[in-house]
Amino acid sequence: MKITEHIANANGKTLFSFELLPPIKGQSIQGIYNAIDPLMELKPPFIDVTSLREDHVYKEHENGLLEKLITRKRPGTVAVCAAIMNKYKVDAVPHLICGGFTKEETEYALIDLQFLGIDNVLVLRGDARKAEPGFVPTPGGHAYATDLLQQVMNMNNGMYLLDTGPTSYKTDFCVGVAGYPEKHFEAPNLKTDFKYLKQKVDMGANFIVTQMFFDNQKYIEFVNNCRANGITVPIIPGLKPITVSKQLISLSKIFHIDIPEALSEAITDCKSEKDVKEVGIQWMIQQCKELVEFGVPVLHFYTMGNPEPTKRIAQAVF
Ligand code: FAD
Repeated sequence: MKITEHIANANGKTLFSFELLPPIKGQSIQGIYNAIDPLMELKPPFIDVTSLREDHVYKEHENGLLEKLITRKRPGTVAVCAAIMNKYKVDAVPHLICGGFTKEETEYALIDLQFLGIDNVLVLRGDARKAEPGFVPTPGGHAYATDLLQQVMNMNNGMYLLDTGPTSYKTDFCVGVAGYPEKHFEAPNLKTDFKYLKQKVDMGANFIVTQMFFDNQKYIEFVNNCRANGITVPIIPGLKPITVSKQLISLSKIFHIDIPEALSEAITDCKSEKDVKEVGIQWMIQQCKELVEFGVPVLHFYTMGNPEPTKRIAQAVF
């Protein structure tokens, strides 16, 4: 079922969902099931599976020369989605990214998704490779989420990369895109970033999932700005509690978000990591209660494979 249908069927009740990463290459899928099992009692109507672009690794040869090789650390997004749907009978939402895929590879992935009965995709540009200062598009791939979105929209209109004729099957993907209440780090300002978000929605995106945030006011302002500018699609808040003290720096650094002073001070004052986790969870419970009050369609958690904090928060909120 489409995410938009799940939201419509909920009749204004806030839903619970979460996302996780595919296993590291060489690990079994059991780790995914272990991360999902504790959260199933909260009845998520859908579960997202992220996608990671390929990266460069260097292999040292006996003569001392380094060989540059390409590897994908966490392959299997589409297969993990299929496995989740098969095992748990919930919708799985694969993240489709531009980086690391040619347009042909993306087309084949979309065809696979359609054959598997996967109705939703989250369309993203994707992160840069680790060693590169910025995002470098794959030759023959897409540079922006808008380009990838166009490809999905074309397939929803029966248009494939090489003309497959008038009887081409029209896919019917419900498509989500990313939004940034505190702006995407590369955008010169909120207005410019917002212009591209509006472009994604005008092109046909059906829902938005936001970057994590720790100050609800930023999300509310973002939603109000969207509504004032004609964006009417559901805006799903992405959420993640702080659970270890080093995240005070790492989350701001990696995701380019602000940690409110009250939260950072409370964490700095903690005497132990156990206390840090408690502060982070209580902060998120309060955030979630306010968001439910505000009327968010879904509380969507970035679990990063660790279900326990999300479970505690969701149990306190739902
Ligand atoms: P875009 O919408 O393409 O925007 C990228 C930048 O370019 C922005 O600054 C925007 O303002 C600007 N821009 C957009 N369109 C244009 C245009 N047409 N011309 C010029 N400038 C433009 N990363 C992963 O690698 N894998 C994941 O699974 C993943 N999941 C995510 C899930 C969510 C909910 C979110 C919020 C992020 C996720 N990311 C993921 C991270 C995301 O890929 C990065 O933040 C990336 O840098 C931007 O992706 P985007 O889709 O927002 O890009």
